[in-house]
Amino acid sequence: LRDDLETVMEQTDQGASSPGGRIMVYVRMRPMSRSEKDAGARCCVRVVNKQDVYLAEFASETDYLRLKRLKGRHFVFDAAFPDAAGQEEVYNVSTADIVEGVLQGRNGTVFCYGATGAGKTYTMLGSTQNPGVMVLALKDLFAKLRQQSREGDYVVHLSYLEVYNETVRDLLSPGRPLVLREDSKQGTVAAGLTHYRAYSADEVMALLHQGNQNRTTEPTRANETSSRSHAILQVTVEYKVQRDSHYLRRTGKLSLIDLAGSERALATDQRTIRSLEGANINRSLLALSSCINSLVEGKRHIPFRNSKLTQLLKDSLGGACQTAMIANISPSNLSFGETQNTLHWADRAKQIRTKITDVNEEVQVPESDSEQAKLLLEVQKENQ
Ligand code: ADP
Ligand code: MG
Repeated sequence: LRDDLETVMEQTDQGASSPGGRIMVYVRMRPMSRSEKDAGARCCVRVVNKQDVYLAEFASETDYLRLKRLKGRHFVFDAAFPDAAGQEEVYNVSTADIVEGVLQGRNGTVFCYGATGAGKTYTMLGSTQNPGVMVLALKDLFAKLRQQSREGDYVVHLSYLEVYNETVRDLLSPGRPLVLREDSKQGTVAAGLTHYRAYSADEVMALLHQGNQNRTTEPTRANETSSRSHAILQVTVEYKVQRDSHYLRRTGKLSLIDLAGSERALATDQRTIRSLEGANINRSLLALSSCINSLVEGKRHIPFRNSKLTQLLKDSLGGACQTAMIANISPSNLSFGETQNTLHWADRAKQIRTKITDVNEEVQVPESDSEQAKLLLEVQKENQ
C-alpha cells in the first residue's frame, strides 16, 4: 500500500508542475440526504487528509464500525472533498488554476460525473445562495480580466448545450437539434449554436438556471431533469494585452460539463462495454468510457467519433488542454455499488496523459510597423 501511495504522490507532483501532462482527478462526497437518513442509510465512505477516500468493503453494520478505524478499500486522488466542503473550496482546488490558464490563452475543461443524485449539478451549477463551479469560474474570470486589462479589451462569449439521446440542443435558445461539424481551426462546432456575449458574472447565474430548465426531462422519472442528458457550458475569452509597441491577442476556451448519470454505463473493460451496447444505455457515456480506456492504454486510435459527446470533448480529452474531473459520490451504503464504480473509474482516469498545452496567442502590430511585425513573429517562432 505504501508503495502504491508513493507512486501516486510522485505522479501528483509531476502533474502539478506541468500544464497539461495529465488529467487531475478529484472526488466530492455530498452530505447524507434526508431521504437516505429516513431509509436508515449508513455512511460507507470516509474522506480524510484532503486526498484519501476509504470505501467499506461490505456495506454492513460491522463494516461501518470497522471503517471508523479506516479499514476498507483505499483510494488516493489529487484532492478529495468531504461532505462539509463548500462550493468555494471545490472551485479553488479544482478549477481556479484552469481559469488562470484560460486567461493565458490555454484551453481548459472540468467535468463532473457520478450516479444520478450524487451531486453533479450541485457542484457545477449550484443554487443562488451556493453557486457552483460554472458561476464561480465566471466571477473569477471577470474579476481577473478587469484587473489585467481595460474595459473594451476583452470579450467573453458563452454557449450552453445539451446532448440527449445523441441529439445536440441549444439550451440558451431551444429549437431544432444542432448539427456538429469539423472546423479546421476550432475543432468540433455545433452549427447555429447561440454565442451569448456576457458582460458580468451576475447575469450568468440567471441565464444558466434558465438554460437548465430547458434540459430534457425523463418521461420515466418525473422529478429527475437530467439523468441522461449531458450539459456543456463553453466560455470563450478573447483579449488584448498591450506590450510596448504591439498587442498580444489571446484566446482561451473553458468547457464545464455536467455529465449524465453514470449508473451502469461507466465500464472499465471493452467486453462489458460491448455487452452494454445493445441495452438501453447512454451511448455517449459508453463512448466516453471507450475513449478513456483507449487513452489509458495509450492506443493510437481513440474512437472520438462514436458519439456526440466524445466528438465535442475531443480537444478536451486528447488534445492540448488542462483537464480536471470531479467524481461525485453519495456517502450512503444504499448507493454502495454506484460509489464503488465511480471511484474505480476515477482511479483509472488518473492515468490519462494529455499533451502539453499550447498557448493561443497572436502578435498584432500597427500596419506601418510591418518590419517589426516580421521580426516579432520570427522571435516568437524561435521561442517555440
Ligand atoms: P446529480 O446532478 O448528480 O443528479 P444533484 O446535484 O441534483 O445530483 O444532487 C442531488 C441532491 O443533493 C440535490 O437536492 C442537491 O441540492 C443535493 N446536494 C448535492 N450535493 C450537495 C452538497 N455538496 N451539499 C448540499 N447538498 C447537496
Ligand atoms: Mg443533475
